[in-house]
Amino acid sequence: MTPMTLTEKILARHAGREAVQPGDNIWVDVDVLMTHDVCGPGTIGIFKQHFGQDAKVWDRRKVVIVPDHYIFTADKMANRNVDVLRQFVREQNLPYYYDVGTDKYKGVCHIALPEEGHTRPGEVLFGTDSHTCTAGAFGEFATGIGNTDAGFILGAGKLWVKVPPTMRFIFHGQLPPYLMAKDLILAVIGDIGCDGATYRAMEFDGDGVYALNIEERMTLCNMVIEAGGKNGVIAPDKVTLAYVNARNKRGTPYNPVYTDPGAKFVFEKVYDVTKLQPIVAKPHSPDNRAAVGEVSGTKLDRAYIGSCTGGKLTDFRAAAQILKDKSVKIDTFVVPATSEVAAGLKSEKIDGQTLEEVFLSAGAKVGPPSCAACLGGPSDTFGRLNQPLSCISTTNRNFPGRMGHKEARVYLASPLTVAASAVTGVITDPREYLE
Ligand code: SF4
Repeated sequence: MTPMTLTEKILARHAGREAVQPGDNIWVDVDVLMTHDVCGPGTIGIFKQHFGQDAKVWDRRKVVIVPDHYIFTADKMANRNVDVLRQFVREQNLPYYYDVGTDKYKGVCHIALPEEGHTRPGEVLFGTDSHTCTAGAFGEFATGIGNTDAGFILGAGKLWVKVPPTMRFIFHGQLPPYLMAKDLILAVIGDIGCDGATYRAMEFDGDGVYALNIEERMTLCNMVIEAGGKNGVIAPDKVTLAYVNARNKRGTPYNPVYTDPGAKFVFEKVYDVTKLQPIVAKPHSPDNRAAVGEVSGTKLDRAYIGSCTGGKLTDFRAAAQILKDKSVKIDTFVVPATSEVAAGLKSEKIDGQTLEEVFLSAGAKVGPPSCAACLGGPSDTFGRLNQPLSCISTTNRNFPGRMGHKEARVYLASPLTVAASAVTGVITDPREYLE
């Protein structure tokens, strides 16, 4: 049989076929469908329109709903979206709904999914959010879809998918302490461009990838969509399985998949991570790459540390390492991705101080877990750019208007670079603050 890549093997299995090849159009069975407060109401409307007002979802245990985007706001339309989710969850008796204002509230969906045991190797996950690709870090096929496709899945449990060809990115070497996964993925996007992986799978491999913890692997896969990638994926190893098994409290069986020896890749690039520099993506595109030295000294008004890309505990540990015993020179906003990360900020310590205390004593503001200003949101959103400011951010997109004001300038960087820049008020190489 023709050797297949990990992505091809997962899709073949979910289509009930022995083999598939890039370009094949197949029906794929869905293991998990995720939606949130922005796209959920539209998805539900399409489901009801096509399957009937009283129709039941295909499998209530495979639907996960996570309000996370426009949560802590007085905006009536945003609040109404969450009400629509609540009503649907009641009608359908859905078990996996993480409602705001309850103990179950999580925050950003892409971090909530793995924390709550909804990401497993070898599975197919679709979500009504472009960064659903984050879950490829767990060795599954995960991608974002529109409301129409999601409405169809709610009724039918499957989706018509074209098998993408796979690109492979191999990282070798031990990551220096001044680099993070964010630098690696910004380097890749800078190399191939925002459309360099359009409708392709991006598989990450090499000892440099397997040395990363699971949160850093999530950062790598999270941003494949910024290169147009259909999905990002990393084969599961001991690190993946330890995380997944610890979270899979319901004991859902799963079956890991690995790329066959001799599988064909349409593109391959090898990186020596020891030779890379901290990277900044300048306004207004994630592929507008500069080495930090090329833009250091650029004046900033604000720093933002948060989102599904840069709001995990690993990100805050890195930022706190630099902000400890220092003061920020510009407004600095810290937003944990989830309630679990927020709890970690209060419990995890550096030299006797919690991470949260480090940020507060440096003069940063710490907000509640959610997407917050990553996607702009209503004008009362925590950290939103309501003025044409220059901001350095750990988020994943810097298109005009993304974080609020359409004339704001957003620089994307790692939490280390953002923290170092917060201390000086200009773009700063984190090496200046690391021993
Ligand atoms: S944190 Fe930002 S990128 Fe991630 S899901 Fe929320 S809005 Fe999207």
